[in-house]
Amino acid sequence: MKVGIIGLGLIGGSLGIDLRRLGHYVWGVSRNPATCATALTLGAVDEAAPHLDHLTSLPNTDIVVVCTPIAQVVETVRQLTPWVAPPTVITDVASVKGAIVPPAQAIYDHFVGGHPMAGTAGQGITSAQPDLFRGRVCVLCEGKGLAQVQYLWEQVGMTTLICSPTDHDQAVAWISHLPVLLSASLINSVHQEPDPHIQALAHRLASTGFRDTSRVGGGNPELGQLMAEYNRTALLSALSIYQQELARVRDWLVQHQWAELRAFLHHAHHDRQQFDSCR
Ligand code: NAP
Repeated sequence: MKVGIIGLGLIGGSLGIDLRRLGHYVWGVSRNPATCATALTLGAVDEAAPHLDHLTSLPNTDIVVVCTPIAQVVETVRQLTPWVAPPTVITDVASVKGAIVPPAQAIYDHFVGGHPMAGTAGQGITSAQPDLFRGRVCVLCEGKGLAQVQYLWEQVGMTTLICSPTDHDQAVAWISHLPVLLSASLINSVHQEPDPHIQALAHRLASTGFRDTSRVGGGNPELGQLMAEYNRTALLSALSIYQQELARVRDWLVQHQWAELRAFLHHAHHDRQQFDSCR
């Protein structure tokens, strides 16, 4: 395959590394010339430039994967249209789908929305790593060229799952976007402890439990803000239900209702097993 990647950061760079190791040809575009140079050094691309018109390898590209921040995806698809035509497929990796798939498909007939459910707290090309996607699920939305995009993600070890943009956004609000905000709130709450001695002690004592619960809140701030902005409605409804749960917990504490609290924790203990990644 010949694959183009626009946006050589954590996701775009990691995808390029895996594809090239599998023997595919990869060209890349990223705003910053230094990023293009680093991508070449890391082996994430065969050729890279800050603009499409500087590339020599555009003809006969099979798939272009847009890996820019969420806010730039639709505009990037628009900018690609003078350069690529069907049967070349354009796809993306953005963490929201409702704000992207309909406008992108209106611009380009062969657009398939995608979201690889893999990442780290890192950002930028220097965080790119091999095998980031292996064993994870990639969500794809129906569109012309779906089979080619499925093949691409299966090549780097992902299982693909097809669903509508709306269903995707509601599900990821629960398991990805809400956890980012809760985890960030936890970190910021600890820092509201008024006694500097207690705060320093908390820093010293924090172990694996705090590391796990704070991990996603300590990730890329730009990505967290864009996920909230572009998935606001689903996130607000998840947040309301979460606030009700937290209010119940607070009431039980205030009223010493330990049996209720224990039943609640029993439910959580049992229900956690229903998430594929928690078994
Ligand atoms: P990132 O590390 O910040 O990489 C994005 C890169 O895109 C930047 O390094 C930037 O490179 C480049 N860029 C920005 N605007 C551009 C433009 N207009 N044209 C070309 N390049 C541009 O972010 P990421 O974590 O890889 O996220 C990228 C996409 O993946 C987002 O849509 C996100 O929703 C999605 N995603 C992220 C994760 C995750 O956990 N991080 C997981 C799944 C999906 P330079 O400015 O250095 O050239």
